[in-house]
Amino acid sequence: MTTSLVSAKTVIRARGLSKVYQEGANEFRALTDVHLDIHAGQLTLLMGPSGSGKTTLLSILGCILRASDGRLELLGEDVTSLPETELPRIRREAIGFVFQGFNLFPTLTAAENVALALDVRGVSGDKAKNRAEELLAEVGLQDRMRAFPADLSGGQKQRVAIARALAGNPPILLADEPTAALDSTSGRAVIELLQGLARSHGRAVVMVTHDPRVLSYGDRILQLEDGRLTREESPRPPYGVAHHALPAQATANFSEEFRAEF
Ligand code: ADP
Ligand code: MG
Repeated sequence: MTTSLVSAKTVIRARGLSKVYQEGANEFRALTDVHLDIHAGQLTLLMGPSGSGKTTLLSILGCILRASDGRLELLGEDVTSLPETELPRIRREAIGFVFQGFNLFPTLTAAENVALALDVRGVSGDKAKNRAEELLAEVGLQDRMRAFPADLSGGQKQRVAIARALAGNPPILLADEPTAALDSTSGRAVIELLQGLARSHGRAVVMVTHDPRVLSYGDRILQLEDGRLTREESPRPPYGVAHHALPAQATANFSEEFRAEF
């Protein structure tokens, strides 16, 4: 071996994905023949004009929406052939979502919002409370645990939402325009946090954005136009990733072969 850099592990592999929305008698093709490999330890930015299919693609990658055609593998598991009833497990174990509008429960504190996501995963009581506090500390909100969403700034709300998305210790984090509603300082804090979660924790982070201010943070920049991936720009030489460990619990149910490669 002459190089110390090991190529990054592919955690999402999409081949020929397409999506056709059915509206009554009308069909609308939102995605066409998308091929994509997403790697652990990298922040991948997905850019494109409004209506180009970014949210559709992210929703398919996150198993919220099913593709009309094509094949999708997450952590080495072909999810396109799985029955609908298996998808909640994949979402719980493999994926964290962050939305533009935060989607926090207004009547719950920051810690309770995070604890709720732990509860869904079978962690409750003091264990959930302690873990929620750890996660909030990880996103820099150790002083705001008991604040309600209405008393938090936009950037703080988004950081609570990121802490919540980390509840299942997911190897894949998907964020749909997470900085769009934020001022530039809060937006920068959020993207730096997402970049850190990719680089230092070996997560694959895919972020949809319109925001040119965040471009320099991406390890890869993919462009979507009219439902097709048109080109990839590299803001800098590919970030070398040397054998990132996947969060242990997250891979529990995925194929032996896949985990053996890590
Ligand atoms: P983006 O996130 O890039 O703005 P979307 O993925 O939301 O794009 O949408 C892509 C295209 O698909 C748009 O033209 C949109 O109107 C259409 N679309 C999105 N969701 C639906 C739906 N549920 N039914 C019909 N058309 C949809
Ligand atoms: Mg969108």
